[in-house]
Amino acid sequence: MSRVLIIGAGGVGQVVTHKCAQVSEIFTDICLASRTKEKCDRIAAQLARPIRTARVDADNVPELVALIKSFKPDVVINVALPYQDLHIMDACLETNVDYLDTANYEPPDDARFCYKWQWDYNERFKEKGLMALLGSGFDPGVTNVFTAWAQKNHFDEIHELDIIDCNAGDHGQPFATNFNPEINIREVTAKGRFFENDAWVETAPLSVSELYDFPEGIGPRKIYLMYHEELESLAKNIKHLKKARFWMTFSDNYLKHLEVLQNVGMTRIDPVLYNGQEIVPLQFLKALLPDPSSLGPLTKGRTCIGCLIKGIKAGKAKKYFVYNICDHEKCYAEVGSQAISYTTGVPAMIGALLMVTGAWRGKGVFNMEEFDPAPFMDKLMKHGLPWTEVIL
Ligand code: NDP
Repeated sequence: MSRVLIIGAGGVGQVVTHKCAQVSEIFTDICLASRTKEKCDRIAAQLARPIRTARVDADNVPELVALIKSFKPDVVINVALPYQDLHIMDACLETNVDYLDTANYEPPDDARFCYKWQWDYNERFKEKGLMALLGSGFDPGVTNVFTAWAQKNHFDEIHELDIIDCNAGDHGQPFATNFNPEINIREVTAKGRFFENDAWVETAPLSVSELYDFPEGIGPRKIYLMYHEELESLAKNIKHLKKARFWMTFSDNYLKHLEVLQNVGMTRIDPVLYNGQEIVPLQFLKALLPDPSSLGPLTKGRTCIGCLIKGIKAGKAKKYFVYNICDHEKCYAEVGSQAISYTTGVPAMIGALLMVTGAWRGKGVFNMEEFDPAPFMDKLMKHGLPWTEVIL
């Protein structure tokens, strides 16, 4: 019996709400709140059981505090944007409620991942006996759990980790992003960065690529090295790690459009003056691009996200791959969203479920790999994200 407050009624929020509603024996009361209440009501109308909806500006801590005090949740699931993380954490501290998110804090005027801002809340959460679980999506999220699972069951020492994210789906649009366009484009246009021998190595954006042969008929795809936030926590928490990289697939068409948009300044995040009004070009571009939640009925094909791991077991070299494959059309049939939102929303629900049932408990701020991966891996199988492991 628990009460969950979900903040953010976008693509991911829709999946989290559906999945929490499916587990009615755990999440007995659900409230979905977002900046636009109509979006919450639209999602609520899709469900078989009633939930509460509310309007909230998650940048406004007193508004958040009032909502939390009136609904009295056991946990807040933050699936608004990374800009809201610290405000929602502040409100949770003020009202003594546990916190979970799927993406680490980013200042709006500085496009870079860094856990420091949220790790700095550790003492405050600890003092209050509260728990904050960071990055409970797929990547970050399941990829951290996959690595912890490999460490627990397959390796004495993990030496190399390659997180590989492939979206082999197609939405038929000339250019669209699978999750919030502003956050997506900030991430993709940032410099690449990987961990090697206790140091971070930077690369020019999307300048390093390889061909990777994905399993189960997806086949060879070009993968590009990027920086991704889970590398920071995994480099800290996985002992003996010598090298950790993150890779993502992009179609030539996506990259062609992105290059042009960058060249003409449309991906800038600093304000420019237009007809006497300040606008941020990337925010304007977001207003023109398809809403990721509208891609659900259009997207066909599958995603494959996994961890390729090399290390030592019983003195011998070992290579291991653990992955999930998710079908866009099946996700849409189940919850009305494509697989990118689905693969993020399901782990957010599972993280909250493990927190409220006491399977994952702690006082302070935690990343996913700090807990026993077994109950999470079990729930992935049961709630729509089955995984496969192969010794290579
Ligand atoms: P969307 O843009 O579709 O949804 C974000 C929602 O948050 C919108 O409904 C928006 O409301 C709401 N919102 C934004 N600002 C505020 C605010 N100040 N107060 C209240 N609500 C607000 O994004 P996605 O659903 O695609 O992504 C959600 C989160 O999931 C992001 O943080 C993203 O980075 C993360 N993510 C994580 C992944 C992972 O694997 N870990 C993968 C994909 C996404 P409105 O529509 O009214 O503006």
